[in-house]
Amino acid sequence: MAETAGLLDCGFGIRFWGVRGSIPVSGRSYERFGGDTTCFEIRVAGRRVIIDAGSGLRRLGQAMDAAGEQDATLLFSHLHLDHVIGLTAFSPLWRRAGEIAMYVPACAAADPEAQLSHLFGEPFFPVGFAQAPGKVRFSRFVPGGEPPLPGLDLATTALTHAPCAAGFRFRYGGRTLVILTDHEHAAGDPTQELIAFCKWADLIVYDAMWDEEVDYEPHRGWGHSTWQAGLRLLEAAGARRLACVHHSPDLPDAALEQRKADLRRRHPESFFARQDDVVVLIA
Ligand SMILES: [Zn+2]
Ligand SMILES: [Zn+2]
Repeated sequence: MAETAGLLDCGFGIRFWGVRGSIPVSGRSYERFGGDTTCFEIRVAGRRVIIDAGSGLRRLGQAMDAAGEQDATLLFSHLHLDHVIGLTAFSPLWRRAGEIAMYVPACAAADPEAQLSHLFGEPFFPVGFAQAPGKVRFSRFVPGGEPPLPGLDLATTALTHAPCAAGFRFRYGGRTLVILTDHEHAAGDPTQELIAFCKWADLIVYDAMWDEEVDYEPHRGWGHSTWQAGLRLLEAAGARRLACVHHSPDLPDAALEQRKADLRRRHPESFFARQDDVVVLIA
């Protein structure tokens, strides 16, 4: 795994800065798939959009520093700790010139600034959110409602996970990228609503934390899905490729290689994403 990846430079694509679920992990048995939690960089229509602030966000911030990029747009799928844990280490927050727009799914009256401010200041962090010199602007969006980012062909949908969790669909240049994490599939077939959301997608990034035949049953109802359910959705939607993410912290590289091989036998185009992987949809 490269120590520092660079920023994505293409017409439309994704870099996986963190693909681990629940909690960051490290050590030699995690070197191949990586230990950082959820953070994806989307390059679309000349813009850079960051999905989630897991621990992978720290290295993305470093890549932005190296490229002299100060401003950032962050979209949150939800605010569970593994999706926000990188925020305090995001260098643009600590630069006076940085302007950071954060879009938070909010189904209730909760104030996203107040929610995320809990991560900063004592007793969890030595510096309060108000002391970070970067300028932050918060916006709320309702999953399935008005698109949060004007000027982009971006839709959201409510996922089965936290009380308010969002999936995303970007369309650009005739290509479609769908992000569905974190999410637990419905029993049986995928819902018509989700099939419609994923219709003809070129890539579905999917919460495949479990395997139906190995470890899903004891975790049914925990809010995460399986690669088998991801494949059923892919096939029902006529989509092209599945990128499995949110790997369990209990799965070292050898276990993920086994799942990768099982998935490949069923669908050779699909894969288990590794940290720093890139998929370019338009060069
Ligand atoms: Zn998660
Ligand atoms: Zn979660």
